[in-house]
Amino acid sequence: MKYNVIVAGGGAAGIAAALAAARAGASTLLVERYGFVGGMLTAGLVAHYDPIKQIEASGIARELYDRLAERGAVKEFDMEGVEMPFRFWQGGCGIDAEEFKNVALDLLLSSKVGLLFHSWVGKTRVRGGRVTGIIACNKSGEQKFDADVVVDATGDADVACQAGVPFDMATKEEGGCMSSTLCFNIGGVHMEQLYGYLEENPGELGMHPRQGKYIRDARKTSIVQGFYSLIREARKAGDLTIPLPESGVGMVVLPLEGSFHVNAIRLPGMNPVDAGDLTKLEIVERRYLQEIFRFIKKYIPGCRDAFIMQSATQIGVRESRRIRGEYTLTIDDIKSGTHFPDAVVRTKWGHTDVHSGKDMGWSFEFIEGPYYIPYRCMVPLRAENLLVAGRSISTTRQAMASIRIMPICSAIGEAAGTAAALSASSGKASRDLDPGLLRETLKSRGVLL
Ligand SMILES: Cc1cc2nc3c(=O)[nH]c(=O)nc-3n(C[C@H](O)[C@H](O)[C@H](O)COP(=O)(O)OP(=O)(O)OC[C@H]3O[C@@H](n4cnc5c(N)ncnc54)[C@H](O)[C@@H]3O)c2cc1C
Repeated sequence: MKYNVIVAGGGAAGIAAALAAARAGASTLLVERYGFVGGMLTAGLVAHYDPIKQIEASGIARELYDRLAERGAVKEFDMEGVEMPFRFWQGGCGIDAEEFKNVALDLLLSSKVGLLFHSWVGKTRVRGGRVTGIIACNKSGEQKFDADVVVDATGDADVACQAGVPFDMATKEEGGCMSSTLCFNIGGVHMEQLYGYLEENPGELGMHPRQGKYIRDARKTSIVQGFYSLIREARKAGDLTIPLPESGVGMVVLPLEGSFHVNAIRLPGMNPVDAGDLTKLEIVERRYLQEIFRFIKKYIPGCRDAFIMQSATQIGVRESRRIRGEYTLTIDDIKSGTHFPDAVVRTKWGHTDVHSGKDMGWSFEFIEGPYYIPYRCMVPLRAENLLVAGRSISTTRQAMASIRIMPICSAIGEAAGTAAALSASSGKASRDLDPGLLRETLKSRGVLL
């Protein structure tokens, strides 16, 4: 079975890569381990987009967002008159993850992307340093696929790693990979009671305990986060024993009235590409989930009748492998807005969002932008006809803490999918692709502004 382009992994980057490749005329197969697409947004239940409009997201990220909005699957807040960076931070939007699965699937099918679900890309086929395809492991056994170009959008650079591409991953000495989070959604919250409490106790609402200025009006922010005194009270009573992030309990308002996406668990010090550690993370975080939910129900006003609507299929992984590519994006590039001749992604606003890998700490920094990502970050060393898309492209740790947000991963995927199709149709190795042609193609589609 031969395709022009095979995309491994159907998250933000993989969906965009597969759509871009198929729309550019390449026969395209998307191989995904679950029975649906969406990656962290659906399987990890990270049902929160950074503000698509503020960062001027274009291309497939914007297309998905607009389709979700049409279906009422996005909860937006009016940020008119709110200063940056708070417009950015508190103006994100809660997403209906179930609708995201449907919207993304419709787009993939209508763009004629071939789909293979319930399939783990277990091996990369390499001949003489050239990636020739993949082996998918599934209920049918081991299935071999050939491709002109493979795009690794697994988030963890699984395909690249198997092809012998060098990579970096935060060591224990560097503080370890950022902590993971098992997300869950709750419903049945009496919003008026909750907002009333927060109006009477504005100190309970905070984006960051060390960041003084933010939207204090709970009704105007997409993230209701904090509950510091309630946490203290519950700890005193022995109802809360697990560690919580210094930001407190974070709840993102979802489109369905009275429902929230809860992002409050942190478990640092584990290796997210080790099956043993992943198992421990799932077990421990599920225990944490139950304790946090009991806390929410008992202590947070308006949540007495709350119920768990859904917990994530898997823990949310923020950081793992970063490949070494032809160029490694640095935080200085991001902060200074370095414009590269092969820039294929542009994002208007940015931030670094670092959750500690050893404790409950959290730090973030806003970046004015715009900043750019060059094509070379997607071209791995030591493997031909392989491109990497999403959070595992070639960056430093600090730069990864910014490019990892979903709209940016989607833009990276769109660039990688377009490049893969160009490479397949021209017969040119992806490493040797003319960056000018790639940029022109992206511009002509309105992707690169
Ligand atoms: C708790 C948490 C909160 C976050 N908050 C936000 C936020 O508010 N806003 C924001 O924009 N971003 C947020 N992020 C970051 C963002 O979700 C991820 O960085 C982003 O989704 C990465 O996209 P990706 O496509 O590279 O990888 P993923 O979304 O991880 O997609 C990878 C896909 O590949 C599949 N896959 C993996 N390995 C294989 C394999 N070997 N074979 C077949 N399939 C495979 C997976 O099932 C998945 O579908 C958050 C992340 C976490 C964990």
